[in-house]
Amino acid sequence: MTDGELFFLILCLVYLADCVHWLSQSTIVFVKWIGSSWKHKTGLLYFGISDINFLFMNPLPPLGLMTCSYPFPISVSPDGAVPRDALMDSSHTGGESTSLRFEDIDSVLPRGKDALINGKRFCTCGTEQEATALSNLLRSLKSLKPGERESAIDSFWEKQFDYSAAKRRMDSANERVRNLKSMCVVLFFYLFVIAPVCCALFGVSNALLPVAVPLIPFAIIINRGFYVAHKALYPELSFERLTELVKNCMCSPALIRACDHVTKDILQGYHPVVAGHILLGDEEFRSFASQIVRKIRNPVFLDALDNTGLKIMEWHNQKLLGLISDYLRNIAGIESQLVLTPEHGDPDANSYCPRCLCQFVQAEGNCPDCAGVELILFDKPFNCG
Ligand SMILES: [Zn+2]
Repeated sequence: MTDGELFFLILCLVYLADCVHWLSQSTIVFVKWIGSSWKHKTGLLYFGISDINFLFMNPLPPLGLMTCSYPFPISVSPDGAVPRDALMDSSHTGGESTSLRFEDIDSVLPRGKDALINGKRFCTCGTEQEATALSNLLRSLKSLKPGERESAIDSFWEKQFDYSAAKRRMDSANERVRNLKSMCVVLFFYLFVIAPVCCALFGVSNALLPVAVPLIPFAIIINRGFYVAHKALYPELSFERLTELVKNCMCSPALIRACDHVTKDILQGYHPVVAGHILLGDEEFRSFASQIVRKIRNPVFLDALDNTGLKIMEWHNQKLLGLISDYLRNIAGIESQLVLTPEHGDPDANSYCPRCLCQFVQAEGNCPDCAGVELILFDKPFNCG
């Protein structure tokens, strides 16, 4: 391998590494891979040993766009809260869940993406800002009388389901990354087409300096565009902005992915149903919303809950189902029922799982993929016609 080929290979590997985003397993990702339509992705690739998966973004022009939505990591009611991740952990270990009544809470603090209650990790959020918002919510609920807590919870959800505010934010991000993305595409062609051709024609040692000099104006223009967009959309995240700028200055291929860091968390603080409504086409949004409703109606790991936790989760799920139903009817204009019996697709299938809709030969029992969710019998036999 010549020096030029080795140099180009390293450049490609560095760039491809920057196309990968590491995400928690519960994150819902919306991706615009090519063209103008967004798709949603969940459970991208689960390693089975940790709550981590990854998303590989489109490395070629037009580079695509991505944004994440983070399902609320706890159930909360006027009585207390239950963390979703602790619930799943306790089910794996056979232990009890850690539901907490507000009377038992002494302190609530955010630490990174975690919310700490009484000095112990209670749950992990999608972002540090969400951990701060969740900690503020729990602190304010703790300070209120029990009879005042429901209206405080309602105000919290009102912001999460504010379609107009979320849409304005997404539109603003799209507007701000438009020119930035064009510059990123130009840089892609410069780094991966023009630079290798120059190196091949004149030799790496002769071409390296003349090829490297134009990267300075590229870095200035893209970093400036990133800084302005990021500061306008995330004024409080000065440390993250600075970290990204330092990385961009030290590694030119990273500049090409600048837009990802502008749009990634643009809809944090809004419910996934709102994010899906803004980004997805009609049919995909109906299927996406149906999935979310099925998951809330058929929660997993119920055996791991104590009585307090069970009551908190039931109250939380009823509240959420009501809010989603109102949103779908009043904001998204969906009047018809979203959750229907699945089409009987296999003559041998006798039952289906109401959460994941997989079909089974057995007539009763639990779904093997959805811990604790009971199968439902098809009410009609398979119709081959
Ligand atoms: Zn299932």
